[in-house]
Amino acid sequence: MGVPFLDLPLQYRSIKKEIDEAVINIFETGHFVLGPEVEAFEKNFAAYSQAQFAVGASSGTDAPHMILRAAGIGAGDEVITQANTFIATLEAIVLAGATPVLIDMHEDTYNMDPELIEAAVTEKTKAIFAVHLYGQPCQMDEINAIAKKHNLMVFEDNAQSVGATYKGRMTGSLADAASTSFYPGKNLGAYGDAGAVTTDNEELATAIRMIGNHGSSVKYHHEMIGWNSRLDGVQAVVLDIKLKYIDKWNQQRRDAAAMYTAQLADVEGIKLPTTHPDADHIYHLYIIQMENEEKRDALMQFLGEREIGTGIHYPIPCHMQNGYKFMGYNEGDFPRTEAYAKRIVSLPMFPEITEEQITEVTSAIKEFLGA
Ligand SMILES: *Cc1c(COP(=O)(O)O)cnc(C)c1O
Repeated sequence: MGVPFLDLPLQYRSIKKEIDEAVINIFETGHFVLGPEVEAFEKNFAAYSQAQFAVGASSGTDAPHMILRAAGIGAGDEVITQANTFIATLEAIVLAGATPVLIDMHEDTYNMDPELIEAAVTEKTKAIFAVHLYGQPCQMDEINAIAKKHNLMVFEDNAQSVGATYKGRMTGSLADAASTSFYPGKNLGAYGDAGAVTTDNEELATAIRMIGNHGSSVKYHHEMIGWNSRLDGVQAVVLDIKLKYIDKWNQQRRDAAAMYTAQLADVEGIKLPTTHPDADHIYHLYIIQMENEEKRDALMQFLGEREIGTGIHYPIPCHMQNGYKFMGYNEGDFPRTEAYAKRIVSLPMFPEITEEQITEVTSAIKEFLGA
């Protein structure tokens, strides 16, 4: 039968009527970039995120970049982030002119290991960028405590965890500011590129709004250097509709993850994902670890032959990417992240995935392992 890794058109069909009407309305009103629909979504997204302000952006790369610019972090400054992340977190830091300082992941959460932060702090450190990877919030109390001690700002990269909570509080409200991505494949996905910043800091919010609109709040008055990073009306109405369903879809992801975990619990030769007791995991991705790279590659091939979609998030750690050699890191610097990258496979995961599809995936994995 086969199981796709993602099925975005399936979700569209479930909300087609609402979406079509709202999108056509944007064409009719001409509110193509910014406008009342963008404002409405920003208000709703801020409230959802338990933050005072939300500012739309054109992507989840621009959003963290604007946070750093607005916070005055740039040349000569260091920002600590995790070696296990998508490259965009580093792009934002480098584009702001600052230096990314990486730390290794925690072996169970796959997020930054808070115990490694202090050793990375120098006189130049200005901020910590914590990435809530795969749907699981970082250990924010530990991170915020270290930041407080060293007088650092803390930001969240919330691109993969919209709707997840940490000790009952929403991601996006756990630090000085948070960026998110609404890339179509994310768990709150637009129908094009989009992103946002959430924060309680009005000064930051105002500066970000200006940066993303050519450094101005009054047309043709440019108070600072900015660029164009605005949300468009079509994405805003799509996101506003999808925001109504995000809790339901996240619950469906948790249910799907629980099914995977139950069906694979007794299978030897794989490590299943775990959730930190302080965190609620919304499973943007469901990732298993195989014993080694050879087994991982063979499993992916085996599943591929059965038309079961898989992925690797991410196959080459950031510090080993050709474009980032200038950072001066070498293979061996982050042993957990490096070993992990060789062993991981992401299994099909989307809210609409059925129990039959999950069983098809787990049966194929068991067959592969001879279990
Ligand atoms: C997707 C992603 C981004 C970048 O978002 P874009 O909207 O694609 O620019 C940033 N950080 C993380 C962790 C992501 O997964």
